[in-house]
Amino acid sequence: MNNAKSADIIIVGAGLMGASIALSLSKAGKKVFLLEKEVCACHASAVNAGGLRRLNRALEEIPISVAAMEMWPQLPKIVGNDCGFQPVGQVRIAPDEKSMTLFEKRVTEVEALGFFHEELVSSAEIKQLVPAYTGSCKGGIVARSDGHALPAQALRAFFNTACSAGTEPFTRCKVVDISHGKEGFTVVAEDGRLFTSEVVINCAGAWGKSIATLFNDQLPIEPVALSMMVTARMKRFIHPVVGVHGRKLSFKQMANGTVVIGGAHKAFLDKTKEKTTISISEVRKSAETVMKYFPIMAKASIVRCWAGIEGVMSDGLPVIDQSQTTPGLFHVCGFSAHGFQLSPMIGRLVSSLVLGKKPELSLAAFSMNRFKIPD
Ligand SMILES: Cc1cc2nc3c(=O)[nH]c(=O)nc-3n(C[C@H](O)[C@H](O)[C@H](O)COP(=O)(O)OP(=O)(O)OC[C@H]3O[C@@H](n4cnc5c(N)ncnc54)[C@H](O)[C@@H]3O)c2cc1C
Repeated sequence: MNNAKSADIIIVGAGLMGASIALSLSKAGKKVFLLEKEVCACHASAVNAGGLRRLNRALEEIPISVAAMEMWPQLPKIVGNDCGFQPVGQVRIAPDEKSMTLFEKRVTEVEALGFFHEELVSSAEIKQLVPAYTGSCKGGIVARSDGHALPAQALRAFFNTACSAGTEPFTRCKVVDISHGKEGFTVVAEDGRLFTSEVVINCAGAWGKSIATLFNDQLPIEPVALSMMVTARMKRFIHPVVGVHGRKLSFKQMANGTVVIGGAHKAFLDKTKEKTTISISEVRKSAETVMKYFPIMAKASIVRCWAGIEGVMSDGLPVIDQSQTTPGLFHVCGFSAHGFQLSPMIGRLVSSLVLGKKPELSLAAFSMNRFKIPD
């Protein structure tokens, strides 16, 4: 195909997963094209809440999450930027005895796997850690070196470092078709540009299903719009990132004093236009929850609301695996609203997978065949 541009590996989607994988593969000497339908930093990877949480993760994700957390302080060496990393800890409050019993069970389960980052704390210690919280409290659970970072800054750092390492980016390059034959893959962009490669990695986030469907792979990803709010700057009143068990609340004060509020409140999503619209009633509910537990927030001014589109899997775990139908095709998507923290480690793991080496951590829990309908 004379007019096609050729690489060893084509990655579809320049979110953090695509950029992190591109960086690792370029460093390994591969010729990588990174194809993005928009520009860098448009979607979930750049507009998320920035929470870096091992606390209360699905048990299957803990080994990757723990390894990723060791990488966050090292990012100045890896991508030349600290990505706004703040190791201020994450706290989850037990508002009643039932929640505290669940936390006790949880810590035992995590420790049985050989991990000790989650600690039970008393209600007195919660009072010290989060003095502005006025709700009921029977204690809590804490991961002291978790924290938060700046998503857009992190994505740009990974993208730019991947490009410096040799990745060739193609923005405004929407992939509309991919075929596979004896010569490898032919990837077709909406504007007619053609690309060929031996390997394709699907890092299309909430749009991952449309790439998988081209090859009859089952990827039950549901695109969901999640809303966020940020306040004007306030005098420092909280350090760790805080959640309350059973309540839709995630709450953090950034280094500049603004307070970022999330908690998985949904926005409206027009899947065809790929546009989100804030739901005023959901945002109001979110603000009411915040004011109920943090009365100091009654004085806060909300300066901006936004929503990001995330690919959520039916079981809440991503897929990180080879295709079930096509050699050389890999799917890395469906991070279900908690992929930001994992992203530095995903580059290393997927790069090994693609290069035919044994990944340093098992990816068995993220296989595609967990969705296979038995014959
Ligand atoms: C509001 C919100 C809050 C969140 N908060 C947190 C948090 O606090 N902590 C945490 O760990 N995680 C959080 N997350 C989740 C995290 O942001 C995601 O899991 C992660 O960014 C997913 O990265 P990705 O690269 O897979 O997807 P994306 O960032 O969505 O990147 C996928 C890219 O693929 C491109 N693409 C899609 N289809 C095509 C195509 N056909 N051709 C070319 N390009 C294509 C898209 O344009 C997009 O840029 C949150 C998510 C949201 C939405």
